[in-house]
Amino acid sequence: MVVVNAPSDDPPAGDPPVEGAPAENPPPVGAPAAPAPDDKDWTWVLEAACPDCGYAASAVRADDLAGAIAQATLPWSAVLARPDAGVRPSPAVWSPLEYGCHVRDVCRLFDTRTRLILDEDDPVFTNWDQDATAVEDRYWAQDPTVVAAELATASATLAATYAAVPPDAWERPGRRSDGSAFTTASLGRYLLHDLVHHLADVDA
Ligand SMILES: [Zn+2]
Repeated sequence: MVVVNAPSDDPPAGDPPVEGAPAENPPPVGAPAAPAPDDKDWTWVLEAACPDCGYAASAVRADDLAGAIAQATLPWSAVLARPDAGVRPSPAVWSPLEYGCHVRDVCRLFDTRTRLILDEDDPVFTNWDQDATAVEDRYWAQDPTVVAAELATASATLAATYAAVPPDAWERPGRRSDGSAFTTASLGRYLLHDLVHHLADVDA
């Protein structure tokens, strides 16, 4: 089975690096193998149930997003407390610790994006390269206890943002840098899939 860091956020901008060409940013010393970059566009999860994790965006009411975000991030304190949280199940698959770092950053990123949608007219989101972030921020070397606390804070902030969305603001528009269009509600349903999907990735 091929396992990648599903699901992705934005497709990477620009061309992929040429094999054999010197990397612009060589991985830091001690960096583990980079998993296959996830450059798929996951916006289809807004239209169809995910066959991998069972998430069905159409079943989520906008009013329920805040509670669902909190629910879907709750298991991470136990996941990150596992004695082997930092161990990869195979050389090119993220460990629970690395997935936890990613989920924390997803919560932070989507809180920023949701606030942008609420504050600005049809904003364009800055691209985020999740695979580059994982290397630059040395996900594998972070402290699971710290990550658990940061993830809990980031998730609570994100849930609070959704809990405070005014009833007439769910259809406010925003766009990703690749042109994909979202609303406050669909952005919430999209990011919730990310949270649910990664629980399946770490068997939580
Ligand atoms: Zn899924």
